[in-house]
Amino acid sequence: MIIAIDGPAASGKGTIAQRLAVRYGLPHLDTGLLYRATAAALMGAGRDLYDERAAIAAARGLGLTEFDETMLRRREMGEAASVVAAMPGVREALLEAQRAFAARPAGAVLDGRDIGTVVCPRADVKIFVTASASARAQRRALELAQRGERADYGAILADIEKRDARDSARSAAPLRAAEDAVRLDTTHLSIEEAVAEAQRIVEAARVRA
Ligand code: C5P
Repeated sequence: MIIAIDGPAASGKGTIAQRLAVRYGLPHLDTGLLYRATAAALMGAGRDLYDERAAIAAARGLGLTEFDETMLRRREMGEAASVVAAMPGVREALLEAQRAFAARPAGAVLDGRDIGTVVCPRADVKIFVTASASARAQRRALELAQRGERADYGAILADIEKRDARDSARSAAPLRAAEDAVRLDTTHLSIEEAVAEAQRIVEAARVRA
């Protein structure tokens, strides 16, 4: 079973994906990490973030297992990731690894922006997770504060809105729900409620299959 979870930053998709993976005994790939790692490799090599050739080379050189997640999850890395993620050549360079991950015998859970539309258009279950920008900013502020990072709500909200706009407006695999995705709005849900709802969506899809 392939489960595709898409949605904007801090919508809850990562936690939902992780929890579904545990529930169904499937491997999980957070594809945002690939774009974050590409941006980090580029910056680490002293290259300009907008240097598309260097970004493609960085994406091609990534391994799937060598990530320093704590560094990659920093706020500025999300912003940098969304710059390289708008480059079609970078997306192309990362596509095969994502599809290979999804092709594992038991299936997989992948979360990102284009899993249901581009990476796994034939996924068994597609969920598009949303939440209001203010609810997402509050969650992100709490998450950063828990990690000891400075968390200014206004700056985080501005970041989220900028990233949403860039991810939705780009021409290469923009952030949008697949036509056959089930929408899950988590604005007023606790994480437990959101996970339970996602599980109901998966169970309904299994019954139909
Ligand atoms: O999900 P996360 O916040 O880690 O993603 C970081 C950035 O990577 C996103 O803002 C988006 O620009 C990009 N991304 C993408 N496609 C994916 C996953 C992430 O374009 N499948």
